[in-house]
This record gives sequence, structure tokens and C-alpha cells, in this order.
Amino acid sequence: MNDEFEDYAFATRAVRAGQVRTPEGEHAEPIFPTSSYVFGSAAEAAARFAGEAPGNIYSRFTNPTVRTFEQRLAALEGAPSCVATASGMAAILSLGMALLQAGDHVVCSRSVFGTTVVLFDNYFRKFGVAVDYVPLSDLDAWAAALRPNTRLLFLETPSNPLTELVDIRAVAELAHAHGALLVVDNCLCTPALQQPLALGADIVVHSATKYLDGQGRCVGGAVVGDAERVGKDVFGFLRTAGPSMSPFNAWVFLKGLETLPLRMQAHSAHALALAQWLEAHPQVERVYYPGLASHPQHALASTQQSGYGGILSFDVRGGRAAAWRVIDNLRLLSITANLGDTKTTVTHPASTTHSRLTPEQRAAAGIGEGLIRVAVGLEAIADIQADLARGLDA
Ligand SMILES: *Cc1c(COP(=O)(O)O)cnc(C)c1O
Repeated sequence: MNDEFEDYAFATRAVRAGQVRTPEGEHAEPIFPTSSYVFGSAAEAAARFAGEAPGNIYSRFTNPTVRTFEQRLAALEGAPSCVATASGMAAILSLGMALLQAGDHVVCSRSVFGTTVVLFDNYFRKFGVAVDYVPLSDLDAWAAALRPNTRLLFLETPSNPLTELVDIRAVAELAHAHGALLVVDNCLCTPALQQPLALGADIVVHSATKYLDGQGRCVGGAVVGDAERVGKDVFGFLRTAGPSMSPFNAWVFLKGLETLPLRMQAHSAHALALAQWLEAHPQVERVYYPGLASHPQHALASTQQSGYGGILSFDVRGGRAAAWRVIDNLRLLSITANLGDTKTTVTHPASTTHSRLTPEQRAAAGIGEGLIRVAVGLEAIADIQADLARGLDA
């Protein structure tokens, strides 16, 4: 982290960390759409290429707008280093390519983003990296899955769509006792609600596409952590292979970070109000939201997170037909699988994000035919409720 911001509160870092004013004296952060940079002399060019002098060479490596985003996110996660990437998946790919090698073993939560599983199973496996999956909250299963060659543990908490949690500190202790690293995908909470590095995790990955942007505009990602593994190893892969973030996208994310604490509080307040309303609705069988006292891990959520987040799911009585009726009666909310937007989005996981699983696998994962996921946005809560009520009351 930029040392100069260590003493400032989270909201202040979100607005100001990482900005370096040019001689023009601009107040807002500028966008630098340039692929390369000029040198004052042949000797200066040689020194930069040799790594002996600081400064930009080429935007596959570094760009001032991207660097401002990286430093601001690093300041929010409480880390010395951040590497911005072209997407959330590019962040996970870069992490694996930098830190894993043939013969390594990964233990991964069963409840991670579907494409993360595809990346591990179809691509990392091809290069000799073995992966085993464990139920997220089962600490005994994490311990039992460790092998002598386990190098990395990977999880998301809370999970999507069922909002299951795991104690990050406990998994970090397991990982470290075994000489392995804990990586947390902090996409759903963002550092505004949960700071995994302070709980013992080694590295955080992000899909900036979601709440860091916050308005559904750009695709991007980041890897956050220490200067050696992230600042040197992950950066080394990025500058070589090139899944770099564009300066324009970095600028959008940078402006998104400025309102992140406010937005995450508002998303959490809206989601809690909607969860409480759904829980009292006669057509709703069960609501999954960590902010509800009925959530089995409500106590853990209350200590590990400083807010409960914007994602909730619920089971409608009547299975798929009833769930589709709710979705097809929407007039305001968006039928789309994205999340982390000011606009509320609604999905039916069994027929979309989890449709590749067999019915048995879905049942084992708790993804019922009546399950609906809502990524609660910032519209008036009464309008969100009224839109869902139309289908529920039909
Ligand atoms: C969306 C998402 C990703 C992938 O990010 P992209 O920006 O779409 O590549 C990874 N993890 C989680 C938890 C996500 O929601």
C-alpha cells in the first residue's frame, strides 16, 4: 500500500489513494490511452529496459491510470501489491500460471464461480496441476483434502447463490500449517465488507466487473497480496502474457471505488429488507441471506464481515414452474446473471448458471428447481418488492 494512506480511514482511501497529479493540476484522475512511453535518451531507455531506472515502458506492463487503480485497491485490501487484469478470470489464470507448476495440488471450495471450476479442471489439470473440491464450510474436509504437494487453497465466502460462509481465519491456519497459500475470491463482499488478508489469507482475487465497477459497464479483475508473489511473480506473468487491464476500464473502476463503501452499505441494507420481506411471504419456502437471524452462519457473518452484502436467494413453493412465473412477471428487474450492479438482477440458477450439472449434482449442491437468486440493486426497495410480488402472488 501507498504508505502515505496507511493512517487514513477506508472511505478516504477509496476516494484518494493512488492518485498522482500531473503538472496540469487536474482534480480528477486522468486516463492515459497510450501504448508506449518515450525516453529522454538512449541511456535512459537502456536503464529502464534493464530495470535499473523506474518508469513506464509499455502499457502491457504498466500504465499510470491502471497503476492508480492498483494502488487504490491495494490500499483498500491492506496489501503492498496489486496487479490489475483484463477480467476476473484473467486474475485467477495469472495467479495459477505464476504460482503453480506441474505436480502441484490445489484444494478448492465446491461452491466457487462455475468458470473457475472449468479453468481448474479443463486447463490447469492439462498442465499437471491436480484439483480436489471440498464443501465450503466443512473444515474437516479441507484438512482431509491436504496432500504433501498441496500448494494452494482457493475459496469464495459467502458462496453464490446459497450464501454459505467459511471461517477464513481457520482455513488460513490450516493452509499455513501445511506450507500452502490461501487465496480468497473477494468478489461478493469487496474490501468494504470483508478484508481476507487481515484474517490471514495470503492473496485476494477480484472480478472488478461486479461491485468494484458497480454499474455493470466494464470487465476487469485484480490479484492483491504481497510484493514477492503478487508484485513480482504475478506481475511477471502479466507483463509476459499480456492479460492486462485497459486504461479506460481502470478509470471506470477507479471512479467505482470512490463510492464503494457507500454502495456496499446500500446494497446490504436493501438486501436485508428484501430478505426479511421474502421470509414472511407465504409462497417462499426458504431465504438464504447471511443477515437473517435464521441463517445458520449468521454469527460468523456478523464477525467476519462488516455488512451482509447484496446477494440473496430464495426457494419458491412450486418448483421450476413457480420460479419461472416469478421471473416472467418481472417488469422492472433484469433477467441476467451479472451481479454487483445498481440495477437489481434476477436468475434461476438451476436452468442457467448451474444447468451443466446433472439433477443429482444440483440436488447435492442445494440448487433446487424453485431457487431464485437476486443481486439486489439500488432501486427503491418498495419497487423491488412490488416487482417480485407480482409473480409470487400470481
Ligand atoms: C464474475 C466472477 C468471476 C469472473 O470474473 P469475470 O470478470 O467475469 O472474468 C470470478 N469470481 C466470481 C466470484 C465472480 O462472480
